[in-house]
Amino acid sequence: MRIVSVRATGLAASVARPLHFGIGAFPSFYATVVEISTDTGITGVGECIVRKGPQVTKRIVEELLAPLVIGKDPWDAEGLWQEMLGQLRRWGHSRGFLVEAISGVDIAIWDVLGKAVGMPVFKLLGGCGRDRVRCYASSIYFAGVGEMVAQAREQIERGHTALKVKIGRPPEQGGLRMDVATVRAIREAVGSEVEIMVDANGAYDAATAVRVGKHLEEADVAWFEEPVPPDDLEGYARVRRALRVPIACGESEFGIFGFRDLIARRAVDVLQPDIARVGGFTGARKVSALADAYHLSVAPHTGFSGGICHLAALHFAAATPNLGAYEAMFIENPLMDIFTESFPRPSAGYLSVPQRPGLGMEVDWEKVRGFTVE
Ligand SMILES: [Mg+2]
Repeated sequence: MRIVSVRATGLAASVARPLHFGIGAFPSFYATVVEISTDTGITGVGECIVRKGPQVTKRIVEELLAPLVIGKDPWDAEGLWQEMLGQLRRWGHSRGFLVEAISGVDIAIWDVLGKAVGMPVFKLLGGCGRDRVRCYASSIYFAGVGEMVAQAREQIERGHTALKVKIGRPPEQGGLRMDVATVRAIREAVGSEVEIMVDANGAYDAATAVRVGKHLEEADVAWFEEPVPPDDLEGYARVRRALRVPIACGESEFGIFGFRDLIARRAVDVLQPDIARVGGFTGARKVSALADAYHLSVAPHTGFSGGICHLAALHFAAATPNLGAYEAMFIENPLMDIFTESFPRPSAGYLSVPQRPGLGMEVDWEKVRGFTVE
């Protein structure tokens, strides 16, 4: 089997009501979708994470990566991944847009491989004897306490047993007092059985994170995500030493090198690779193996990405032995709805993984065209 073409498409969509969290207000969703065709007629799809400029990733895929993989056998997925990363690695490009672009190509390659042998990707990776994965509802964004409590209750009614709450408010939105009050009110409302994760998106400095974390210990928080900015490794280590709440991070990290450093600094308990950022399935499984070696759990990040990223992360979660929980987003995100059917829904805290070959869901290109950036 040979790859004959690689096509990338930039997508964008906006919502009327922006989400507010530790980074600020968020009104727009982006993604770059990759489609790979082979000489057997089998095609595969992947997605590159995009926070800004979907056309940037598109150009990297088409100008830097496509020439490397066209004419090659997709069964050499690991070799192709090394080649894509290797071409600019010696010049410092082992992070950022390049690795995000590689991720989309790698996911599409694994979709092709699954279809070629008639197996879902999570089985092809070496399944874990599960066809559904533990998940949590993500996320409850900044709003009044009453509204956040109501959202928490609604998610529990919809079949979730764990949920994530955004903290890290700026002073003008009530600051850390409001953060702590919100988490306490939600704990009160949902009872002691429900798992509550909190996520500051790096909004605190280490001293403030410790202070907030001490209050949150009383609310029996399952993990404290991104208490400080992703590049403050010493801050992470300091927060982790000071608190008995597990520390989670990794959505902003690239490949195995960033995760290696986080682990080496004893900075983290729960690793959160994003499959559309860390290098697709090939990159994500390396992170999973690293985590396994250090007895850390893996909780795949999905966030604001499009449906293909969420779907690929579901397969990765199903094939991850040391799985914590999969991030099941419940927010309004137009780019989630690009398939011919709707995305799996939670039931009693679990999501079922599609069983059909490859990623197991069909992209509706008519819907994709509606979001395409020219
Ligand atoms: Mg997060």
